[in-house]
Amino acid sequence: MARRILAAGNWKMNKTPSETKALIAEMAPAVASDEVDVLLCVPAIDIPAAVEAAKGTNIAIGGENLYFEESGAYTGEISAEMLVDAGATYVIMGHSERRDYFGETDEDVNKKVIKALEHNLVPVMCCGESLTQREQGITMDWIRQQVKIGLLNVSAEDVKKVVIAYEPIWAIGTGKTATADQAEEVCKGIRDLLRELYGDAVAEEVRVLYGGSVNPGNAAELFAKEDIDGGLVGGASLKTSFGEIVNYNK
Ligand code: PEP
Repeated sequence: MARRILAAGNWKMNKTPSETKALIAEMAPAVASDEVDVLLCVPAIDIPAAVEAAKGTNIAIGGENLYFEESGAYTGEISAEMLVDAGATYVIMGHSERRDYFGETDEDVNKKVIKALEHNLVPVMCCGESLTQREQGITMDWIRQQVKIGLLNVSAEDVKKVVIAYEPIWAIGTGKTATADQAEEVCKGIRDLLRELYGDAVAEEVRVLYGGSVNPGNAAELFAKEDIDGGLVGGASLKTSFGEIVNYNK
């Protein structure tokens, strides 16, 4: 089965609910596509406004984080059930900013993946190496460990629903994109690991995205690679020109 390209935006801590409404209304015609799945992951407080604005369009809305407990005394956290009730269908976990600034570990990521799946939310599980790790030549060992732990106790049936986003930390928000060959090498390595863990057929179904300074000028070359099934896009998903990334092949 051919994997559909997913163009996923990560708005990070940008846009108020009213700005969200206006931007999605403006962006919707530009990101219309029959061929590519379109997702905007927005701050939790923006989700209801985003869902409302995206009604009747091809844009799916996701969260940028969740907590792995069901509910309870976890001040400030957002549960999977809350995301679903607000209309989110995807959720990001393990983004390098959450790992760096908020101490998210591979074990946390694994619990978040499992909780998201329990609630029928599509997990967008991020992994990525630092520049030092790349220079030390340990990129693939590091990524394999992140992905292996992130997917612990995730069944073959469930892993097909997971989206894995390979995001080299040195390429996020820096304007430095990994070359298409560098990105493909790691995305292929992730698929090889999925083959080892789950077999060929399952590995062929899992979508692996590249993220790190994706823009309208480099999306086509990246998305044309065999093992890259779209992008997780930060800065460039906050502009209507995100439509040029969605329609990279036009
Ligand atoms: C991201 O935050 O996931 C990201 C890839 O950001 P940017 O596209 O801005 O590098």
